[in-house]
Amino acid sequence: MIRAAIGRLRRRDRQPAPRSGSALILLYHRVAKVRSDPWDLAVGPRRFEEHLEVLRREACPLRLEQLSRALVGGELPERAVVVTFDDGYADNLYNARPLLERYEVPATIFLPSGLIGGEGEFWWDELERLLLLPGKLPGTLYLNISGHAHRWQLDEATRDPRADFLRNRRWRAWEDPPSARHSLYKSLWDLLHRSGDEEQRRVLIELRRWAGVDEEGRPSHRLLSLEETSALAEGDLVEIGAHTVNHPSLSSLSLDLQRNEILESKVTLENIVGSPVTSFAYPYGKRSDYSARTVALVREAGFTYACSNVPGVVTQSTDRFQLPRIQAHNWDGETFWKHLQEWFDG
Ligand SMILES: [Zn+2]
Repeated sequence: MIRAAIGRLRRRDRQPAPRSGSALILLYHRVAKVRSDPWDLAVGPRRFEEHLEVLRREACPLRLEQLSRALVGGELPERAVVVTFDDGYADNLYNARPLLERYEVPATIFLPSGLIGGEGEFWWDELERLLLLPGKLPGTLYLNISGHAHRWQLDEATRDPRADFLRNRRWRAWEDPPSARHSLYKSLWDLLHRSGDEEQRRVLIELRRWAGVDEEGRPSHRLLSLEETSALAEGDLVEIGAHTVNHPSLSSLSLDLQRNEILESKVTLENIVGSPVTSFAYPYGKRSDYSARTVALVREAGFTYACSNVPGVVTQSTDRFQLPRIQAHNWDGETFWKHLQEWFDG
């Protein structure tokens, strides 16, 4: 099925020559099938395989470190593409790595050092579990977040949660919320995204109590354990990069706290994988999530390059400490390559 798709693509879409000296860095999070995915973080295993097949046949997969060297040395191969993953979901080891191996596509995986090896889910996944999966919720929620009192009314959305779930399963968080549940999810995401990790934990405890849901996370959403992190890093296919300790929006922290988050993640991950960690990715990665001071701290910490989540093409003049990335979605191979070509061809 994959080969047939590629065949069609080759016949129909013979591309013009790409701009010289440009490269793409792809951003993935998960290789898995999930019930709901408000941030479009999961690419299905079969789809991911199609992406890798396209990269092997049509592009030049590079390591991040090779790209960085090419930028300094001035020679970039045509259609250079780097694969990266953020956050350290366990499926990176079980679903992504075997496929990366099969297609010999290297990848860099950015891990928040204080969260891997821990129990439970990421706060954004737990928020989705509590609010978007079908389940009865009380009609009113009162919460105090970062010193501000909030109140939400859910009545009309809680009458038939299963129907609401099925109707809006494909909702994405950047679209208008289709129900009060989705509105609540988005408001809480916005509030928690810039709260400290203690505040996030406290709010989630209150939310669980309110929703009558226990703490136990879904095995499908768990993070890598320490042993799994070592297994993922084995050999030279996968590079481990740092993604802070607690995954904060760095610009919301004092410079001292930012420095700790950046430095400590480097040291901890080096101890886990037993080799230098030279790459970094800013959590959430939008321009508002880090500042020029953050970039300077990353440089001072001894990293040699860093990735943002700002979409764009890498060229000779790109700042190595703010490398743009393009999020890969759950596209089939043909759509995937079309998007890549659009980026390459400008
Ligand atoms: Zn992240």
